[in-house]
Amino acid sequence: MIHWEAHACLPLHPQASFAPIERFHAAGVHYVSINIGMDMNPLSQVMQTIAGFRASVAAQPERFVLANTVQDVQRAAAQGKLAIGFDLEGAMPLLEQPDMVAVYQSLGVRQMHLAYNRNNSVAGGCHDVEQGLTSLGYRVVQAINAAGVLMDCSHTGRRCSLDIMAASSAPVIFSHANPLSLVEHGRNVTDEQIRTCAATGGVVCVSGVSFFLGNNHPTAVDVARHAAYVADLVGVQHAGVGLDISFRQPELDDNPPDNYDPSYWWPSSAGYNRAVHPSTYTPIDTWQVLGQALQDTGMTATEAALVMGGNMMRVAGQVWR
Ligand SMILES: [Zn+2]
Repeated sequence: MIHWEAHACLPLHPQASFAPIERFHAAGVHYVSINIGMDMNPLSQVMQTIAGFRASVAAQPERFVLANTVQDVQRAAAQGKLAIGFDLEGAMPLLEQPDMVAVYQSLGVRQMHLAYNRNNSVAGGCHDVEQGLTSLGYRVVQAINAAGVLMDCSHTGRRCSLDIMAASSAPVIFSHANPLSLVEHGRNVTDEQIRTCAATGGVVCVSGVSFFLGNNHPTAVDVARHAAYVADLVGVQHAGVGLDISFRQPELDDNPPDNYDPSYWWPSSAGYNRAVHPSTYTPIDTWQVLGQALQDTGMTATEAALVMGGNMMRVAGQVWR
């Protein structure tokens, strides 16, 4: 069975080392979605990052494959390679042009958010005043559907995520989001959002981030508990994993320039008490013990395999082209 890591972050720098991505492969992962930009990043940085990451993948064809289809993911796994796709967190790098979605798709973007924590001209963010999908946003949803890209609502505002899921003609995912019923945090998602996602045929992939799991030193047990909550609420076929591990490489300057203010994008009022607890992540080797941790919640081995990748393979098979 394929193990699918729905979201991971390298420094947004063209020279970022892919060594952490190799560690996912060593931990038994077959597909990783790698972030190539957020709403706060200028287009110049997003483009440089895509170019650098594409070159890093192409430089090691014996190890990495940029996946177009789920068949590519299966073939890569059979050949002992790691399949990779890129994800974009927010619509601001589209420059208000829905046609840009197809451009990003052609460059390897397989998964896309419409907003990152804050409102923009397309969608509402989860750490802002409630805003529905705008008229431009409806056109972006259509463009994402038409381009065969996974629609991701993880950082989207609650009301807007419901608008997106109602508007999408394809299953919608949360690539890294945790149940609000388990941990009160502004980034976590309500039972209504989880139910609506499942109704699209989509998957809620739980993250391995300390703030969202409610544990300053999270482990596979925490991830399994959150995935089991989703499975109990809407069915095991709608739970997945996106640990959202962010790999720092301090020698690289990957901070966005100009007016970048971390407290704007991650407000302490939402639950990011960084002064008290810097964010930490479940370790990569979570992947090696998660199958057992999921079974310890009461799942069968077959159900655990669905959570660890079978469900995202199903949805990507429906969405990608
Ligand atoms: Zn994210």
